[in-house]
Amino acid sequence: MRGFIINIRKAKNEDVIVTVLSSDSVKNYWRFFGARHSILQVGNLIDFEEKESKKSFMPNIRSISHISFPWIFAYNHLLMWQNFIKLFEVHLKDAIELDAFYFELLLSVAKKWGKQNPKRLAIEAYMKLLDHEGRLYDNGFCYICETILEEKVGLMRAFLPTHPHCIYGQSFQKKDIFKLYNTKSTIHLNDKLIDKLYLILTKGF
Ligand SMILES: [Zn+2]
Repeated sequence: MRGFIINIRKAKNEDVIVTVLSSDSVKNYWRFFGARHSILQVGNLIDFEEKESKKSFMPNIRSISHISFPWIFAYNHLLMWQNFIKLFEVHLKDAIELDAFYFELLLSVAKKWGKQNPKRLAIEAYMKLLDHEGRLYDNGFCYICETILEEKVGLMRAFLPTHPHCIYGQSFQKKDIFKLYNTKSTIHLNDKLIDKLYLILTKGF
């Protein structure tokens, strides 16, 4: 099987519990002496085998190999990737079965992570995720007061648009934000704006 490690928790002694997002599930695995295993790092894409355990309440993970990306040696990229992937862990905490969208999305982003601005990639991926989950709030009304939006909008967590005064927040050009909703592309946005949007994204999915 193949999947991204989205969380690692210490269990007893040097054993760890590894949470893996694969194409059809988010699952916890027990790994004996996992603390000694350098491949076990949040964000890593791994090939592995799952082995049901008679003794333990969760399956074991074994025969792990790491599928690396060139950017993994760039500290800043790695750190941003780990922070990005941790958002999936929180978001999919209660999911058991999963459609392939999430794994495919992460895989396509990981392939580009070293070549393009990671913040842009993260924002674009998040737009696709919101769209996939039917959470893109692009009907032209303020999420708070439910009246029509004007030229400038504020943005809440999950990129929910509001009147700037309804959340006492920063304001953005509505046309820029709605173009982002529609195209899932950040090409029309400058880096300063990307920084602001990325900050909203890091508040959580
Ligand atoms: Zn409002």
